[in-house]
Amino acid sequence: MVWRNWARTASASPEVIERPSNDAEVAAVVRWAASRGTRVRVVGAGHSFTDCAATDGVMLSLDAMNRIEHVGPAGADGSREVRVGAGIRLHRLCRDLASRGLALENMGDIDQQSIAGAISTGTHGTGARFGGFATQVRAVRLVTADGAIVETSPHERPGLFELARLGVGAAGVLTAVTLRVVRAFELEAHEVPVPLEQVLESVTDDGGLVGSHDHVEFYWWPHSEVVQLKVNDRQGTGAAPLHPVRRLIDDELLSNGGLTLTTELCSSVGALTPAVNRFAARALTERRFRGPSHEVFTARRRVRFREMEYAVPREAVVPLLHEIDAWLRRTGENVPFPIEVRFAAADDVWLSTAYRRPTAYIAVHQARRLPYARYFRAVEAMMAEHAGRPHWGKLHRLRAEQLRALYPRFDDALEVRDAVDPDRVFTNAYTERVFGA
Ligand SMILES: Cc1cc2nc3c(=O)[nH]c(=O)nc-3n(C[C@H](O)[C@H](O)[C@H](O)COP(=O)(O)OP(=O)(O)OC[C@H]3O[C@@H](n4cnc5c(N)ncnc54)[C@H](O)[C@@H]3O)c2cc1C
Repeated sequence: MVWRNWARTASASPEVIERPSNDAEVAAVVRWAASRGTRVRVVGAGHSFTDCAATDGVMLSLDAMNRIEHVGPAGADGSREVRVGAGIRLHRLCRDLASRGLALENMGDIDQQSIAGAISTGTHGTGARFGGFATQVRAVRLVTADGAIVETSPHERPGLFELARLGVGAAGVLTAVTLRVVRAFELEAHEVPVPLEQVLESVTDDGGLVGSHDHVEFYWWPHSEVVQLKVNDRQGTGAAPLHPVRRLIDDELLSNGGLTLTTELCSSVGALTPAVNRFAARALTERRFRGPSHEVFTARRRVRFREMEYAVPREAVVPLLHEIDAWLRRTGENVPFPIEVRFAAADDVWLSTAYRRPTAYIAVHQARRLPYARYFRAVEAMMAEHAGRPHWGKLHRLRAEQLRALYPRFDDALEVRDAVDPDRVFTNAYTERVFGA
């Protein structure tokens, strides 16, 4: 059987695929594999662009471990700790939380990932005062390489907790994750086309756009001077919910349908790309609406693409976008996909791309039928000049030696790995590249 990831950038032929439904079954598989010297990797939703979930050994799917196990008492601010099976997909998690009047504090663009996959690669959304998924984790239960079922938290084996909450699966098989969740809330979305330079003027200033709204991101089409700015706020001006038909038209017809059309056209006739991008940027319209947080944060992504994303210090956004723009103009590279810029608060998660650094994320995308290597390599070289840290689940070419220089606690994480998995049961080509053999 051949396994492929969503983006079709990684594939594998595992010896066996196991679908355990509880911790004891996971432990039995791990013990069996370890005793034969077979490697084990867990796959979530396969939405990473790298081969981080690939294995020719045992592939574990935790899709059956997908329930809310426990809901803790409410704190003074209404937040609670909720323990969930590690295989739960975000869309189901959001639905199950909503039925209890709860929600995730922040989310990324989509809700298809598993919670364990999302935290293991440092998946994040946007918001200068908010962290990624791993910052919402309060405890992790996992099965380690010796088959033990272990509870970890900041108070219980804190080093292992760090590698478990963001470690690309190197700590073991995560079976349950305890998250801090908040009272269900609505977001008011404001999406508006704005001149690129106007947005760039206010991205680094704390009193500016990014600092004064909860969640800010923007999409910039190469060769155009306009960005699609998306701002989501908890406090709003009283906008109405989006009519389901408008949502369908916007998201399916204009967004996914339009992107299919333009990427197909530009993939066939590259000379059209600058004009098509300018047209796409101009075609954007303004809209305001409100809705439950998880519906506003996320959207459907039906058009497959390739992506590389780097975390950089916030002040690097402006020079980097200018450098990318100059490179695209100089080379005439055919890129019919927008560049996405997002923000996050500094955090303390050892391997987080936002570790101790107020962060901006710059993501470059390429259409499935077009080559991406030259473009991504050129942007990667620019990111290196700004101490860029690559998203663990998106395309990049860094190795352990380079990553060590970017993460002050890198060697601490590797020490934990040596202690809990000396025989490297939970390894594959990707973890060997980013953490060493
Ligand atoms: C269309 C699209 C949109 C995206 N949007 C965003 C976004 O907005 N923000 C962002 O930051 N990222 C985004 N991503 C990237 C994505 O969130 C990450 O790559 C995430 O890891 C995918 O989750 P998954 O469940 O598919 O994990 P997989 O890709 O299946 O696995 C990821 C890693 O986690 C490990 N793993 C999974 N489950 C376990 C477990 N139970 N125990 C131990 N290890 C485990 C795997 O072995 C692998 O190393 C997007 C990706 C796509 C394709």
